[in-house]
Amino acid sequence: MHAQALISQSALAHNLSQVRELIGNRQVIAMVKADAYGHRLEYIQPILDGADLLAVSEISEVKKLRQLSQKSILLLSGVFSDKDIDEIAPLNCQVVIHSLSQLPVLTRTRTPLKVWIKIDTGMHRLGIAPEDFSQVQSTLSACEHISIAGVMSHFACADETAHPLNTLQLERFNALQTACARSMANSAAILSNPSALFDYVRPGIMLYGASPFNLPNPTLKPVMRLQAPVMAIRTLAAGEHVGYGARFTAKQTTTLATIGIGYGDGYPRHMTDGTPVSIAGKLCHLAGRVSMDMITVDVGQHAVQIGDMATLWGDEHTPVEVISEHAGTTAYELLTRVSRRVRFEDCP
Ligand SMILES: *Cc1c(COP(=O)(O)O)cnc(C)c1O
Repeated sequence: MHAQALISQSALAHNLSQVRELIGNRQVIAMVKADAYGHRLEYIQPILDGADLLAVSEISEVKKLRQLSQKSILLLSGVFSDKDIDEIAPLNCQVVIHSLSQLPVLTRTRTPLKVWIKIDTGMHRLGIAPEDFSQVQSTLSACEHISIAGVMSHFACADETAHPLNTLQLERFNALQTACARSMANSAAILSNPSALFDYVRPGIMLYGASPFNLPNPTLKPVMRLQAPVMAIRTLAAGEHVGYGARFTAKQTTTLATIGIGYGDGYPRHMTDGTPVSIAGKLCHLAGRVSMDMITVDVGQHAVQIGDMATLWGDEHTPVEVISEHAGTTAYELLTRVSRRVRFEDCP
C-alpha cells in the first residue's frame, strides 16, 4: 500500500505539441528545473528531448540531466567561480549571465561557452540592468571563447494578463540594441501574449499540463496523476469526529475511507475539508486533518472498497489547479513537492 505518481508521456507529448502550435517555427526551451517540476527527469526526458534546449537551475541538475540526455542544456543560475566553469566544462551546457559580478569569471574562461544575457526588465530578482546591456554584450563579444546565444528576460506578472508591468517589461526588452536571438515568454505569456514570443519560448508548467493561471485549461493534459489506495472504511455516527484535532464532525451517519497518503508524500497538511478526492472515479471529499501518512475522505453514497484507488490530483474530478486552491497554493508548488516516498511509474 503506497502512494503512486503516474506520469503520462503521451500527455507530455501532447502539451509540447500544443506549445509548438502556438509558436509556429520559433524554438522551445523546455524548463525542467526542480526535477522537471517534480515529475522526475527520467520520465520526461524521452519526450522533452523533442524541445530545442532544456533548462535547469543548478549545476547539480545539469549533471543529472546530462546522464540522461545528449541535448544542449541551459544553466539558468550561470557560473559564480572558476570552479563552476571547470565543473561544467565537460557537460556541454550554455550559461546565463544575470549579474555583472559574473562577468570576470566568464571572461576568464578557457572553455568555449555559449552565454545568454539575462536582462532585468522589471522583475528585479535577477538580471542585468538595461543600461548595462551594451557594455556586457560588447565585453562578451570580445572574448575569444565566448559566443552570445541570446538575450532573455522574465515576466513578473505574466499570469495577470492586464498587469501594466507586462507592457513595460516588453517595451524595455524591445528597446535593447542587439542582433542576438531573444527569449521572454513563460507559459502564461505563450498562452496569452503573441507579442512576447520572440525567437525562443520558455514553457514550464504548461508542458506538465497545468495552467499558469491556475484554472484548468482544456487544451492541456495533466502529466501527473497522484494516487493512493483505500486502506480502511468505517462509519461515523452523527456528532462523531475524525482525525487529529477532531477537525471534522459528522453531521449525519457518514462513511469514511482512510487513504494511504499524507503530507509525508507531499499532499499538503493545509488541505481544507471538502477538497475533492476521486475514489474509483467517484467524486468524494476530504474530511478531517491531513496526517503524515493518511487522509480521511467522506465517500457520501458511493460504494467504495478497500484497495480502491483514490486520485488526489490529475483526473477529471481533481484538476491540480483546483486542488491547489484548497491548500492556498498553486499547481507549481503541489507538483514540485511530491516527496521521495511516492513511487513514480509510467502511465500506460
Ligand atoms: C521556470 C522558468 C520559466 C517557466 O515558467 P512557467 O511559468 O512554468 O512556464 C521560464 N523562464 C524562467 C527564467 C524560469 O525560471
